[in-house]
Amino acid sequence: MKEREIFLLRRACDARMQAYAPYSNFHVGCAIEATDGRIVLGANVENACYRLGQCAEQVALGAAQQTFGMDSIARIAIVGGPVETAGGGALITPCGGCRQAIAEAQALCGAPIEIICGNADGSACSRHTLPELLPGAFTLTQR
Ligand SMILES: [Zn+2]
Repeated sequence: MKEREIFLLRRACDARMQAYAPYSNFHVGCAIEATDGRIVLGANVENACYRLGQCAEQVALGAAQQTFGMDSIARIAIVGGPVETAGGGALITPCGGCRQAIAEAQALCGAPIEIICGNADGSACSRHTLPELLPGAFTLTQR
């Protein structure tokens, strides 16, 4: 792994520690890095009314918009797994809704966003592009 990927995955692990997921016990952390190096974090936040829960990526995208704008995102790292995961566990990827949310940001950026998908402790990862994860995504030009 590249040094910057490792750093971002560690920040995502930091975020994961703040997840609120008493229903699924599946804790996810997300770290988003801007083109100027600034980083914002997010973790999943569940609710007794399940549909009100928020994914870590969506929480982090909101923080990105407030901090540096979604048009300045360079890369996104996510980590996650069951709370009781022993070792690294399996790699996770964003859900379909989050893939579409990342598509919105990428359309604003005008450049590909690197998507780094990690396991529970960030010890392993895979790298993806948005078209690979969400072919045919809705974009700004389709409105
Ligand atoms: Zn999601």
